[in-house]
Order: sequence, then C-alpha cells, then structure tokens
Amino acid sequence: MKKSRRVGILGGGQLAKMICDSAKKMNYKTTILDPNIESCGKLSANKHIIADYNDIKGLNILCENADIITYEFENVPSETIDYLEKMRKDIPQGKKPLHLSQHRIREKEAVKKIGVKTAEFRKVQNIDSLKKALIEIGYPAILKTCSGGYDGKGQWKLLDEKNIFEIKWSDNQEYILEKMIPFQKEVSCMVIRGTTGDIVAFPIGENIHKNGILNMTIVPARISKEIAKEIESISKKIVKDLDIYGPLGIEYFIKDNEIYFNEMAPRPHNSAHYTMDACNYSQFDIHLMGILGEKLPEIKLLTKVVMLNIMGEDQEKVKKIKKEHNMNVHIYGKSEWKKDRKMGHINYCGENLEELILKADSF
Ligand code: ADP
Ligand code: MG
Repeated sequence: MKKSRRVGILGGGQLAKMICDSAKKMNYKTTILDPNIESCGKLSANKHIIADYNDIKGLNILCENADIITYEFENVPSETIDYLEKMRKDIPQGKKPLHLSQHRIREKEAVKKIGVKTAEFRKVQNIDSLKKALIEIGYPAILKTCSGGYDGKGQWKLLDEKNIFEIKWSDNQEYILEKMIPFQKEVSCMVIRGTTGDIVAFPIGENIHKNGILNMTIVPARISKEIAKEIESISKKIVKDLDIYGPLGIEYFIKDNEIYFNEMAPRPHNSAHYTMDACNYSQFDIHLMGILGEKLPEIKLLTKVVMLNIMGEDQEKVKKIKKEHNMNVHIYGKSEWKKDRKMGHINYCGENLEELILKADSF
C-alpha cells in the first residue's frame, strides 16, 4: 500500500506547530485547520485553513489536502470527526479518545472500570448535590467543570464550607467533585499506540505546577524504579484496554506509593516537550510514526532534563537569555505575549538533575 504523505491537523496551536516540524523532517506535507488567523502552527505548516471545526467548506479543503488526519487538542467536536470519516478520510485515532477525555466523569469511570485507581469522585449539578456529595467525600475536595477546563481553569478548591460560595455555577455545565489527594508527587506519562499495535511509553516526568499551570517537568521523575515501572504499565494498560490509538498524555498523583490517575489527553502533552532534546525520538515524531503505521522504535532517554515553560509574563527575560551549552530554547512565535499564556519552553539537559532544577528556577 502506498504510504500517506499528507497530514491534516485539527487545531493550529503550538502542539500542531511542533507536529509540523517533525513532519518536515520526515518529508510529510502538513495542513492545519484552525479558526484563529494568528495560530502559530501556520509558521511550520505547509498550509493553514482558517475555518471553524464545523465549517463544511473548511473541512472539505482539509480533505483535499490531507490523506490522514489527526488532532492537537481534545475539544474537537465529534461531528467533525463523523464528517471527515464520512468523507472516507483516514483518522487513525477516531473519536473515542476525544469522547472520553472531553468529560472528566466519563474518563474517570472508564479507567476505574479497568481497575485503575482514581480519587474518589461524585457527579454534582448544583449546591444541593454538592452538599450531599461533600458529606460523603469530606473536605478538602476539589470541584471541577466536567468539560472545557484546562490549566486549572473551572476548578474550585473546597477546604471548608466558606469556599462553596466562591463557586461560579453555570447552567449548561456538569461538575465533578473529587476528594483532594495530598500527593507527594505529580507525574505524567506519554504513551503512544501506533496503528501497527506497537505501544511505546516515554520516561515518566515529574511535574511542578504554578497557579494551576505546568511550570516545570523533571526527567527522570524522582520516584522509585518500581513506581515508575508500575506507572508505565498502567499507562500501557489504559491505551490497550480502552482501545486507544495515537498519543495519550496521562497525569497521575503519587501518595505513599499509591498511584492515582488524574486525567488524560489524546494529543501531544506539554509535560513531554522534554523529549524534543532528551530522547532519541520526540513525542511528535512518534505521534506521526504511530498514526502513519510505522514500526515504533524503542525510546531512549539520552540525558537528564528539566523542561521549563516560558509564559507571556517572561517576555523581558527571554530577550535577555544567554544561551548556554545544553540549553535548548523553543519559542512558538505567538503574536501576543500575554500573562499565563504558554509562549515557549526551555529544555535544560545535563547529568546533574539538582543543578538543572536550580538553573530552571533561576530563569
Ligand atoms: P487541568 O485540566 O486544569 O490540568 P487537573 O485535573 O489536572 O486539570 O487539575 C489541575 C491541578 O490541580 C492538578 O495538576 C493538581 O495539582 C491539582 N488537582 C486536581 N485534582 C486534584 C485532586 N483530586 N487532588 C489533589 N490535587 C488535585
Ligand atoms: Mg492537568
């Protein structure tokens, strides 16, 4: 069978941009579809279609320009995938991982069913059901919108009754109440299942958040070998048992050697950007190889690494960066530097992890 050489990507942000950069190395042509005229993905894509995800005209142009289609964010409407499949386009990931990851209760129920542990949770719709759920779960707890939340948005920490009044309820949302896990570590695993059935897991990253936004990923995570192995095997089990293809970034909490699933995203993940400079293949390379049916290679960590996110408020610091050996700066080329907006990242590579953390901290 002739190999597909033209890749279409739904979404055109920095993840799409980095998929396109990988595609270029492998000689694949890329087309992104994103309603935002300023999408930074256009800086690396061969073509940018400016259209909404449900714009039939835009989707038809995507079909003309792509043999195989993937996505870079989890909120692509399922109707979009239905339409592209009706147009007989190859979408190896399908809509199943979108369906699961678009709803926090759905995704937690799915992993619980296959025996993966999560924080205790309840479905909540209003103050009454919240109060009832709080009696069962107890404080501290965390309330989250089931859909559309990211970077800690749409979440309320409930330490006691007073916090209930801070919640902004909206009529067309469902909510999940989770028991707060007093974890010692937050980690993530990027696992990718190719259409050949090959599954690879990248080394576990230890994640440090600031104000609900990922600040730093430390690799290897400072956890025992046994826990790292177990997380890798849980991650592989999730893609296998839930029959998911393509990339899946899975977040976990570790508390007293217990592993709790937090959430998953069927796309490249911020916490795996370290793979660009510290592994023999990046998450973007393997995403493409996986959906294009190539045999997946063994992943090797070539060096220890700390990935630091560059945010909009760091613009002045970025202007003054003094590049050092083994410090790889990636700037996404977004038009506007805004607070809390992810503008780029730096991978600090080297042999002394504590030194790398200090370097990243003093950026
Ligand atoms: P987002 O989609 O915004 O990343 P998450 O569910 O990952 O949403 O929550 C954001 C952060 O809030 C997590 O990285 C973690 O630090 C904290 N958090 C979320 N749920 C819990 C929980 N059940 N127990 C403890 N901390 C939590
Ligand atoms: Mg998260």
